[in-house]
Amino acid sequence: MKIAIVAIAGWIAATAPGLAQTQSQADRLEEIAQFFAGADIVSGPSVVDCTLSGGTKTTCFQLTVTTDPQTYTPGPWCPSNISQDASHGGIWLEDGEVHDVDGAFIANLAEFYGDTDWQLFDAQTGDINFTGTLASCEAAARPDVDAAYNNYCVQCLPEYMPDDASVTYVIPLDPQPAARASQTGMSGSGIAYNGIRLDGPAPVDAILDAHTIAPFDDCGGHVNLHVGYHYHAVTTCLDASPATTGPVSADAAAEHGMQIGLAMDGYQIFSHLMGDGSDPADLDACNGHQADNASYHYHAGEAGSNAILACLMAEAGCVSEDADAACDASARPGRP
Ligand SMILES: [Zn+2]
Ligand SMILES: [Zn+2]
Repeated sequence: MKIAIVAIAGWIAATAPGLAQTQSQADRLEEIAQFFAGADIVSGPSVVDCTLSGGTKTTCFQLTVTTDPQTYTPGPWCPSNISQDASHGGIWLEDGEVHDVDGAFIANLAEFYGDTDWQLFDAQTGDINFTGTLASCEAAARPDVDAAYNNYCVQCLPEYMPDDASVTYVIPLDPQPAARASQTGMSGSGIAYNGIRLDGPAPVDAILDAHTIAPFDDCGGHVNLHVGYHYHAVTTCLDASPATTGPVSADAAAEHGMQIGLAMDGYQIFSHLMGDGSDPADLDACNGHQADNASYHYHAGEAGSNAILACLMAEAGCVSEDADAACDASARPGRP
């Protein structure tokens, strides 16, 4: 009899997300909803069936958000003249360092990269080549940069996104450890508490090969036309998370810094440093560790590293521009 009830409860949860979940699922959803209270939520979180990147079928939560941060206006990215100071540009990440993209940085690129082919500005006027239209951002903000946009500062503005643009995350309620770690270039790293995508490393080699740079704003974010505004670095903009998703408790969380997001495999992501400003101890290749008072979680990579997370230890869920798509991460070669 008991078995039948469990089976029916499972069936209800699977076929009518949001209407009937088990109590523990309802508690998790509440926790998740609180964590993402600062996000611009379109729908969810709700419980859905999902197939993770390693083929494991399990239970996920689904959350659809817009890509607009609610507490600040993204940008700026590209200065328009080499005379401009850092307030007119964003940042660039190189060799573990964060560099202000001000006019002087653009003017100095040939020396910075030891390559005289860099020339992003007009030598007479100091005006910088930057993508200032939807069409130019479309042509330049992609791995195979249109040759017409070599030697450009590449930026896409949030207003180029359709008004109803949203991104849907499907993330396991309980992480399912993978046989081996997977690169975040495929799945992205996760989602920040404000609903903004925490992406994998930016494809810097392709960008630089075209003598372009695609700066991030001071919060570590920029826009592409697929997922909208997203982060490649965690900076001080994400230092005020209001809650944790568990299982690391708020007390333990204070010791480990702040939970700034949730990884695509369902593990928590904390700030780069511990609460007392020290480096987290014994991090593995994916920036994760376990402690006496805290179950396994990640710490975000240093802002200059261009890797919020380089890899995931457990199977990843799905991220999609299609809110109605069923999540089968094992069938997807990765987003474009
Ligand atoms: Zn990007
Ligand atoms: Zn920690």
